[in-house]
Amino acid sequence: MQRKTKIVATLGPASNDPEVLNLMMQAGVDVVRLNFSHGNPKDHIDRAEMVRAMARARGKTIGVLVDLQGPKIRIGKFEHGKITLKNGDTFILDSDCTLGTQERVGLDYKELPRDASRGTTLLLDDGRIVLWVEEVRGNEIICTVKQGGALSNNKGINRQGGGLSAAALTEKDMEDIKTAAALKADYLAVSFPRDGADMQLARKLMVAAGGKSMLVAKIERAEAITNLDEILDASDAIMVARGDLGVEVGDAAVPALQKRMIRMAREKNKLAITATQMMESMINSPIPTRAEVSDVANAVIDGTDAVMLSAETAAGQYPVEAVAAMDRVCIEAEKEYETEFSKRRLSMQFSRVDESIAMATTYLASHLKVKAIAALTESGATPLMMSRIYTDVPIYALSSDVGTRRKLTLFRGVYPVNFRPATQEREQVLHEAEDELRRRGAVRDDDLIIITIGEPIGKSGGTNTMKIVKVGEIRCTSKA
Ligand code: PGA
Ligand code: MN
Repeated sequence: MQRKTKIVATLGPASNDPEVLNLMMQAGVDVVRLNFSHGNPKDHIDRAEMVRAMARARGKTIGVLVDLQGPKIRIGKFEHGKITLKNGDTFILDSDCTLGTQERVGLDYKELPRDASRGTTLLLDDGRIVLWVEEVRGNEIICTVKQGGALSNNKGINRQGGGLSAAALTEKDMEDIKTAAALKADYLAVSFPRDGADMQLARKLMVAAGGKSMLVAKIERAEAITNLDEILDASDAIMVARGDLGVEVGDAAVPALQKRMIRMAREKNKLAITATQMMESMINSPIPTRAEVSDVANAVIDGTDAVMLSAETAAGQYPVEAVAAMDRVCIEAEKEYETEFSKRRLSMQFSRVDESIAMATTYLASHLKVKAIAALTESGATPLMMSRIYTDVPIYALSSDVGTRRKLTLFRGVYPVNFRPATQEREQVLHEAEDELRRRGAVRDDDLIIITIGEPIGKSGGTNTMKIVKVGEIRCTSKA
């Protein structure tokens, strides 16, 4: 049984060792995430090279996702590294303060006093510390501590309910987009986008830098939920970034939002990644909790394309075990997953030929005993469409373009295959496609497969043809 849901693993100190990385790939990593909140451009470029070289050696295709830092809104540093706040204390966030004390601390994000007023709730350190704003006086935000605790250097700040004005792309991010383009990132994740315009700007900068990455919008601000439609329209994928999102909208709202986001993404022919704390306890434990197992399984049932590991593989003690655990949980959840043909699309008018072929192919694949779909593709558009329509039948995307194959690593139920037919003669190409699937053990003689292709062959353009083929038939007839 082949896993359909893809696994994204964040690289970091725990997974720098090539041996560990190799074991992680063996355990099932499809896409690696380079977290640009840490490290320098050279390290990232080297790491991407290493991953691709290792993938090549294994005959595997691995995608690379660059995750921009974004405007992490943080407090400054303390004189003694940290303080302890008690409930009821008065505490001041002060953009002019250089070194923090028990009374006040500075701000990385100097505009915060403009975004707060009496009654604003500010959440520090992922919501562990809760401050209630009494008053804003110039560059000082005077707060009462509602939930105290230890507070150390550079902890993050969120505003409950959203509404911070910081733009998604910082100066650093704009530079980092150039690095992402240089290392040919397959995916570029934008942190904290507010609206479609933030994503359009990222795309403009990516194109200007000569890159072709697909864009992932990390949904982690309250306003990104309100603007989800236009963000999806401007992006290729979304990440359900449950960490920051949960702080802004409240943890209890996240599960239902996750379902809505994944459904909306699929409906708009976009991809979805479910992220953060999926196997959190595996940072220190070789096995996940039952709750984590259920969480990963439920994301699969929600229809996510990929599940993501963050600290588990970047800084945890059991990076290989975390990937292996995700692998087995996904496979098991997929068995129980009720595949349901996209009813919504049954009553839709299509405007695109490739979309119509994708619809017809997946419909037939589910109603005829088809073993596999072979989509001959240049851009990956047809397999994307096919994978948006629920089908149990594996979709092999045959492409000569390495960039296309790497992008396909994130698509649920799609398997990239390097395919360079020796000729452009139609029957011969179809025959070679069939042979390729047989060689991989995906099909056997007498299995039915559906092949989709754009004609005329050789001319790049949309898929416009589908053919139902019985494996081995051509060879058998020619022998007879
Ligand atoms: P991060 O984003 O891990 O880059 O903060 C994911 C999230 O907020 O869930
Ligand atoms: Mn985040």
